Amino acid sequence: MSNNILIIAEGRADGLKKVSFELVNVAQPLAAALGGAVQGAVVGSNVGAWANTLAQTGVTQVYVADDAGLQNFAPESYTTALAALIHAAQPAVVLFGATGWGKEVSARVAAQLDWGLATDCTAAQIVNGALVLTRPVYAGKAIAQVQAKSFPIMASIRPNIAPPAETNKTAAPIQAVTITLKEPRAQVVETVAQQKSKVDLGEANVVVAGGRGVKGPEGFAPLNELADTLNAAIGASRAAVDAGWIDYTHQVGQTGKTVAPKLYIAAGISGAIQHLAGMSSSKVIVAINKDPDAPIFKVADYGIVGDLFDVVPALNAAIKKEQGN
Ligand SMILES: Cc1cc2nc3c(=O)[nH]c(=O)nc-3n(C[C@H](O)[C@H](O)[C@H](O)COP(=O)(O)OP(=O)(O)OC[C@H]3O[C@@H](n4cnc5c(N)ncnc54)[C@H](O)[C@@H]3O)c2cc1C
Repeated sequence: MSNNILIIAEGRADGLKKVSFELVNVAQPLAAALGGAVQGAVVGSNVGAWANTLAQTGVTQVYVADDAGLQNFAPESYTTALAALIHAAQPAVVLFGATGWGKEVSARVAAQLDWGLATDCTAAQIVNGALVLTRPVYAGKAIAQVQAKSFPIMASIRPNIAPPAETNKTAAPIQAVTITLKEPRAQVVETVAQQKSKVDLGEANVVVAGGRGVKGPEGFAPLNELADTLNAAIGASRAAVDAGWIDYTHQVGQTGKTVAPKLYIAAGISGAIQHLAGMSSSKVIVAINKDPDAPIFKVADYGIVGDLFDVVPALNAAIKKEQGN
């Protein structure tokens, strides 16, 4: 085992996901404290371009498992491939993104290698030579500090907790790792592309979210306009999703997505614990609600008591004016 930190990059058709670059920056201080280096791993089919990009982020080595058998996502095959990469790299710490993909494969890889795994962490540091991870628990009601008793260890890290590393460094060497895949027991038969919003909710710097207070699907119109102005993604409470006003992919919370943007604007959302579980680690929370006693105001950095149909357009106009539009 080395003192290195291995980050597992994650991509999609248009390239590596932002969380991959964030993991590099999460890993750098850990590697410095352990006297090791940050290395990257890329897995998939035809992922040479991903490896080249990752090689320019300041990592010292990239391991690649590139195999036609990984073209469609099959958890068993990806677990085999990732375990082989980790075996080749021999790191002290492996970091995944706490995305849907990362959560699924990290649990499987940890089980296969019999390593410890701390999931959905919002901070990682080395204290007295040990890895200490911060994890929101009980739907965000409490924050746990988890200390790994020994190395090697794995963790999944929430997107948006660190700035993304830039891709302007001298390219690190890339090492291909040979893998032997078995026929997976389940195969993807068809992939149906979802209608995507302009900005990915999980990666957005700004989220504008609406709840039951928007009163109907058309109530999201002023929120969409504000989101356009701020280059934001649209989020929603479960009440709005369950009412059929917006697609489930926008749901934020315990049974939806966990987001940690720089700015979260909650309009017409009461602030139920299950909603807070998905957004309370946002850097700045702005709540717009006509009920001054709404629980959302307890977690908000800025609260606006008023009708969202007055406040959101006024906010949009003021921001546009500030932007010079
Ligand atoms: C197991 C479980 C899992 C759950 N998972 C989730 C989850 O992932 N995400 C989630 O969001 N919820 C989840 N819930 C549901 C959660 O408990 C709440 O019911 C839900 O979050 C409420 O949504 P809301 O805030 O939009 O609606 P409400 O609680 O009805 O709040 C609406 C708010 O809008 C305000 N309002 C109304 N009109 C206006 C107006 N014109 N202008 C300004 N404000 C206005 C009201 O004052 C009120 O505060 C879960 C529940 C359970 C039991």
